[in-house]
Parts: sequence; C-alpha cells; structure tokens
Amino acid sequence: MSAKIWIVLQQRDGKIQKMSWEAVRAGQALAADLGGTAEAVLLGSGMEEAGNEVGQCSLGSVHVADDESLAVYTPGRFARALEAAIATAQPDYVLFPHTYQTVDFLPGLAQSLDAALVPEAVSFETVDGSVVWQRPVLGGKMFASVRAKGPGPVLVSLQSGAFSADELEKGSAPIETLSLDFAAMSADREILRIEEAIAGEVDLSQAPVIVSVGRGVGDAEKIPIMQELADALGGELGASRPVIDSGWLPRDRQIGSSGQTVTPKLYVAAGISGAIQHLVGMKGSQVIVAINKDAGAPIFNVAHYGIVGDLHEVVPAVTAALKEASES
Ligand SMILES: Cc1cc2nc3c(=O)[nH]c(=O)nc-3n(C[C@H](O)[C@H](O)[C@H](O)COP(=O)(O)OP(=O)(O)OC[C@H]3O[C@@H](n4cnc5c(N)ncnc54)[C@H](O)[C@@H]3O)c2cc1C
Repeated sequence: MSAKIWIVLQQRDGKIQKMSWEAVRAGQALAADLGGTAEAVLLGSGMEEAGNEVGQCSLGSVHVADDESLAVYTPGRFARALEAAIATAQPDYVLFPHTYQTVDFLPGLAQSLDAALVPEAVSFETVDGSVVWQRPVLGGKMFASVRAKGPGPVLVSLQSGAFSADELEKGSAPIETLSLDFAAMSADREILRIEEAIAGEVDLSQAPVIVSVGRGVGDAEKIPIMQELADALGGELGASRPVIDSGWLPRDRQIGSSGQTVTPKLYVAAGISGAIQHLVGMKGSQVIVAINKDAGAPIFNVAHYGIVGDLHEVVPAVTAALKEASES
C-alpha cells in the first residue's frame, strides 16, 4: 500500500514561509522513498495566489482551506481545521516546519488525533517500509533515532535547514478545496495584535552568506575587520548574543534561539564557541566555516571547515586572499 504524505505549509499574508518549502522537499523525498504521494495543505484567507505558487511543485495535489476565520493564526481554528481534514483524508505522515506556530498547536493536534508526534526531526531513513527519524535530544548534545509505533497518522515537525528548498522538484499539482465547517471551530484565543520581534534593516534569513562575530572578537573596535570579510564575500554580518548584549552590533544581527534562524549557503563563525543556543540558529547552514583559537570549541563539531587560530590574524589574511583572488 502506498503511503500518503501531507505537508502543512505556513504562510503570512499569502507569503509562504521559507521553512515550508524545506518541508515540501522533505515530503517529496519521503514519498519517493516510500513509493507514495506527497500532498500540500494550506490554511488561510485569500489563498488563491499562494495555492497556485505551491501548485508549481511536484505534488499529488494542493489542499486549500480558505476562509476569513483563518486569516490570522489561532491555535484553536488551525488545529480544529487540520484535525477534521486529517481525520477524513487519513494521511500516513503529516509534515510541518518546526516553527513557533507549529510548536504552539502541534502537541494538542496530536493528542486530539491520537497520533504520534516526532518533533524537530533533522533527517529520516526508511527501513523495510517504516520510517526512522533522527532528532536532537539533551539540548542538541545527542541525536535519537525514533520510529513511531501503532496505528494512525504520524505528525512530524522538521528542523530549519534540515532539508534543502534548492532541491525542490517542480511540477504541476491540482488545487483542491478543503471544505470544512469553519463556523463550528473556536479560535480558543483572541489575538490582540502582532508585533515583529525583530524589526531591523536586514533580514538575515534571506542572506546567502553570513559572517558571524562572537565574543572572541574582543571589543567593538574590532568589528570592522569582520565587516571587511563580509564585504569581500558579498555577505552580511551576524553575531552571537554576547556581541549584541555588549552593544557591539544591533539586535537584528543576533543569531540563535532568541535571535534569527538562518540557513545561508556559507556561514563563517569567528570567535564563537558554539553554545547550543547559537547552534540552533545556524546549524542548518549549507557550509559552516569556524575560526576559533580553541581547537576544542564545540563549534568545530558542526563546522565543515575549521581554522584553529587567532581571528585577528586569520580574518584579515582570508580577506586579503579573497581580494587578491577577485583582482587576478
Ligand atoms: C535563554 C538563552 C537564550 C540565548 N540565546 C542566544 C542566542 O540567540 N544566540 C546566541 O549566540 N547565544 C544565545 N545565548 C547565549 C549562549 O548560551 C552563549 O553564551 C553564547 O552563544 C556565547 O557566545 P560566544 O560564542 O560569542 O561567546 P563565548 O562562549 O564566550 O565564546 C567565545 C569564543 O571565542 C574564542 N576566542 C576568543 N578569542 C579568540 C580569538 N582571538 N580568535 C579566535 N577565537 C577566539 C574562544 O575560544 C571561545 O570559543 C542564550 C542563552 C540563554 C540562557
């Protein structure tokens, strides 16, 4: 029997959130491995354009629940809408991006569906037709391999950067309307207003290259050497929290659990130890280069390339080499 995989996308004002494309890619890969079909689900109001955009992916179909009551996210309405849709269609796996929004409603949804929940998965493998998920435990110090047991759907949230949206397979999927009894769904919560947590000049989540500054830089006067490297690479400056708390860079540059989550093509971490609160914001980067004078710094555990040395020597030398290479 072929598996049915649903991917629930997240959007705001019709703009699909970046991690949702990664979830679509994960769904495509899972469907290919299991010999099943991947179908997208979109909830919101005025979803025609967003639905058509998702329909350009290689998917079995795009199910759209389009209603005024879903214009603003509320856990009650989103969970009830999904509960009804999942109970009717009975997908085997339902994938979500691991966002603040899904963290908010997924446990309750899993409980009401009596479904297994695998939060924060970073990869999967299929073994004899069943799926084994890898997920971090103990604050990211270890990884557990888990398999959901028992009947019913398996709900999985996917960690940022675990799958690459660059590998999305394009196609043409039919749009189907999810007809649900929206009037019967209670919001559970009244959203009074929505404030941007980080209102900054730069959206680091979209930057292809980030040069990130840690406490090891020493003081604010040394930031320009990092800026020069960022400029030479055509990238943006990011930072660990102590750099922000010290006022060396503005708050919109902070990366980590209480800052931005980024998945650039290249992430250079200089003078950053690799605390878990920092790692969760950047470990999905495609290529990580760490510069640290301590060879035992945990950042080297996630780095693809490591340079052990004093950043005050290494960074200017790398910048000079980049400039020389671009001039030759
Ligand atoms: C609730 C909570 C939320 C948090 N949120 C975040 C967050 O969003 N983002 C975040 O980053 N942190 C966050 N933190 C803080 C986090 O725990 C760490 O304290 C922080 O990430 C450490 O920053 P760092 O690596 O720059 O500094 P340190 O841990 O002090 O590391 C500095 C590193 O620089 C190296 N170094 C020193 N001098 C040099 C040199 N000359 N050349 C090369 N290397 C050098 C050292 O070997 C060391 O590894 C949070 C903490 C809490 C409790």
